[in-house]
Amino acid sequence: MKNEIVRTRIAPSPTGYLHIGTARTALINYIFAKQNRGKFILRIEDTDLLRSDPKFEKDIIEGLRWLGIFWDEGVEVGGDYAPYKQSERIETYKKYIKSLLEQGRAYHCFCTEEELEKHRQSMLASGEPAIYSGKCSKLSQKEAEEKIKNGQKSIIRFKTPSKKIIFEDLIKGKIEFDTDLIGDIAIAKNENTPLYNFAVVVDDYDMDINYVIRGEDHISNTPKQIIIQDALGFKRPIYAHLPLVLGPDKRKLSKRDGAVSVIDYKKDGYLPEAIVNFLALLGWNPGDDREIFSMEDLIKEFKIEKFQKSGAIFNIKKLDWFNAYYIKQKDLSELVELCLPYLKEADLLEEREGELFLKSTEEKISKKWIEKMLVLERDRIKKLSEISYALSFFFAETLHFDPNLLIWKKSDKEQTKKVLSELIEIFEAIDKDAFVESSIKNSIAHLAENYGNGSVYWPLRVALSGREASPGPLQIAEILGKEKTIKRVKDALHALL
Ligand code: GLU
Repeated sequence: MKNEIVRTRIAPSPTGYLHIGTARTALINYIFAKQNRGKFILRIEDTDLLRSDPKFEKDIIEGLRWLGIFWDEGVEVGGDYAPYKQSERIETYKKYIKSLLEQGRAYHCFCTEEELEKHRQSMLASGEPAIYSGKCSKLSQKEAEEKIKNGQKSIIRFKTPSKKIIFEDLIKGKIEFDTDLIGDIAIAKNENTPLYNFAVVVDDYDMDINYVIRGEDHISNTPKQIIIQDALGFKRPIYAHLPLVLGPDKRKLSKRDGAVSVIDYKKDGYLPEAIVNFLALLGWNPGDDREIFSMEDLIKEFKIEKFQKSGAIFNIKKLDWFNAYYIKQKDLSELVELCLPYLKEADLLEEREGELFLKSTEEKISKKWIEKMLVLERDRIKKLSEISYALSFFFAETLHFDPNLLIWKKSDKEQTKKVLSELIEIFEAIDKDAFVESSIKNSIAHLAENYGNGSVYWPLRVALSGREASPGPLQIAEILGKEKTIKRVKDALHALL
């Protein structure tokens, strides 16, 4: 190792969107690097040119940044070990492939797909591990050169030595593998096209990565990578394999269980703080019952050795709980900004030259007015996307609801009509500027006493919100103001006539 500062990395293949599992791996690598004053690197493993797509790379970068997982080196930011994209590092791999071939530690394999499959089937049928037979390793250099000259297609295989590989995993503990169960490893399609297990070893060495923290699904690749490192004389990094994120069915989290991309969670109205907190607790806890952790807290408190060994179940309800918590913590003016895109998308508001207008009436409105609504609604929503439904009744010109809803269960139509017309009279007598919750309450106190609370507050709630469940009717009235409140109560009364 050229230096001993902690260097971790996330090395996604841009063959799919940034999903929850990769985001969690990135987060743990980031936290581990930060708490050790180390560096966190983003490397893009795009050697599979057919399946790699720049749109996925873009999504991965956007998703990580949105979560607040920033890399010290890597694509888009550069660094001393550039380039950080495998497709730009072909010359480096070539050098090592050549050296392994020259040393006789790797060879060209000419077996066709059909031959390999046939061999695999017969091994399986006889109950043996389905590993490569090593047939082409027996070819002399001359025979191999001849075949290449004749245009016969080949791949490059590493000659796996027969030995026991033992490594100490930071999470899983001591792990042993018998390389006889591995067979000779395919390391490149050709000198210009390395394969994962080989390229990852070269890159981790070349970039001085000393901690490889990744998903448990890579555990069976680790002995392969170790024997390639050994052959090339590279120092072995320290490994930590994170247990998988499981779906509610206890199987590996599938697309069915959650959104495809972390960016979909963003669109759905989750906050990055909530996702980070949720992801860190998928397999780790502080040893007591605390659950709320900011990124800073995590950098202070997270301990990789305390990561659980078994899979962690992805529970969307828990994520919603965290999200509701972080929504409540938000500063109101920031929350307005976060909600605006949803309100615009739902066609409730429109922004023109920096001013906000109601779509229903073209009335100009202020962000302060929306803040007042958010005070009432922010404790009731789990996701920002729910805000458009939650606030829609404030913004409507007229509400549409079944008039029978206005009638309280212990009241009747006639009494409801009476209550509504008395409310109109009372409201008209209140000064416009005094139209606030407390004075409205005082003004209708006698009415509530005469008819009963339910018979007054229920129809008022329905008249003002069109809903059975809403914030308190007086709070709504104050936000709507005198004029709109009276209009809605009149509309309600007409609906009953
Ligand atoms: N490209 C690999 C992946 O996306 C990287 C695995 C590793 O971290 O070694 O799964």
